[in-house]
Amino acid sequence: MSYPAVELRQVTRRYGAKDTAVAALDDVSLTCPAGTWTAIMGPSGSGKSTLLHCAAGLDQVTSGRVVLAGRDITTAPDGVLTELRRRSIGFVFQNFNLIGSLTAEQNVAFPLKLAGIRAPRTDVRGVLRSVGLADRAAHRPRELSGGQQQRVAIARAMISRPAVLFADEPTGALDSHSAKVVLKLLRDMVRDNGQSILMVTHDPAVAASADAVVFLADGRLVDRLDAPATHEVAARLARLES
Ligand code: ADP
Repeated sequence: MSYPAVELRQVTRRYGAKDTAVAALDDVSLTCPAGTWTAIMGPSGSGKSTLLHCAAGLDQVTSGRVVLAGRDITTAPDGVLTELRRRSIGFVFQNFNLIGSLTAEQNVAFPLKLAGIRAPRTDVRGVLRSVGLADRAAHRPRELSGGQQQRVAIARAMISRPAVLFADEPTGALDSHSAKVVLKLLRDMVRDNGQSILMVTHDPAVAASADAVVFLADGRLVDRLDAPATHEVAARLARLES
């Protein structure tokens, strides 16, 4: 049986003390089936980052459940959570978060090194080749363009073949051509490897690359579009922002 990649069941996340508490997420339920790409949209402050962080086990929910690849991470002991994060999850951020002193190849191998696994050089080269950077293996981040740095970050996230990739504005710092290249790589991950993506973006054209878009307002899931088109996404978002 294949589990959904991520499931949020009635998740509430409150910040702050009782009378000043803010519900960043308010009773949110969401299922992202394995092998699908879901975009999260909504006005600023609507809870997008909180949702991403709770789904990835980087933030603790106040109530409700988060089930990642069939494991309930809200009740998992720390050790299991660490292991799950290492094996099942990858991250891609707007600002790449590469280590400046390491080459592209060393950056890609870094998560495995942290886990005490010696990455075969051929694997690392193979992943770099798959993102079109075979000839940049020995370059450091400052010697690469933004688009190339993001492709190194994707290669780094792919090396452990995670079930779910969490992406926070992955094209936010890229020009439109580099953004297209990165979105195609993400699409290939989903189509060819059956991996899943949960992505926050504020760009309707980027969201339209996903299989589904869910919309947040004031911490609640208020809308959803499957097989989204850019103009539909833009129209729904404009309605929420007005
Ligand atoms: P978005 O990503 O959609 O801009 P966030 O998830 O960052 O929204 O924030 C949702 C709400 O929760 C906002 O009102 C924000 O001020 C609040 N919030 C987020 N993180 C914290 C925190 N660590 N402490 C207190 N309030 C927070």
